[in-house]
Amino acid sequence: MSDVLNRDPGCLFCKITAGEIPSSKVYEDELCYAFYDIDPQAPTHFLVIPKEHIPSVAGVTAGNSAVVGHIFEVIAQVTRELGLDSYRVVSNIGEQAGQSVPHLHFHVLAGRDMTWPPG
Ligand code: 5GP
Ligand code: ZN
Repeated sequence: MSDVLNRDPGCLFCKITAGEIPSSKVYEDELCYAFYDIDPQAPTHFLVIPKEHIPSVAGVTAGNSAVVGHIFEVIAQVTRELGLDSYRVVSNIGEQAGQSVPHLHFHVLAGRDMTWPPG
């Protein structure tokens, strides 16, 4: 993995990881950042994102996929620390699936009954 992170200066979530836009931090390390969603869809709703700008799951490659495994380790750790034993992890890809911010992110939702399939 490169030491110099690829960032997009016009990207909302790149601005959040850079601290240019305030957010409510859940967890941070050198590779990823987790913060509460501004418009929560469940009693607990946070997002976990790579610090590197990757547009979505569709932009994951052999060269950048290590961060995705790392993010899932972080999700397992942070949810354990928050005492969450049931939760949903969601990533929307593209407009039809409901992606509104083109920077890879995993929603972590918990604290209420959930329906399947998702709408
Ligand atoms: P998507 O719709 O792309 O799957 O998810 C984007 C998420 O980012 C949405 O749930 C939305 O509420 C959240 N979001 C958008 N802008 C901001 C922001 O400025 N701060 C935070 N904390 N969340 C945001
Ligand atoms: Zn970005």
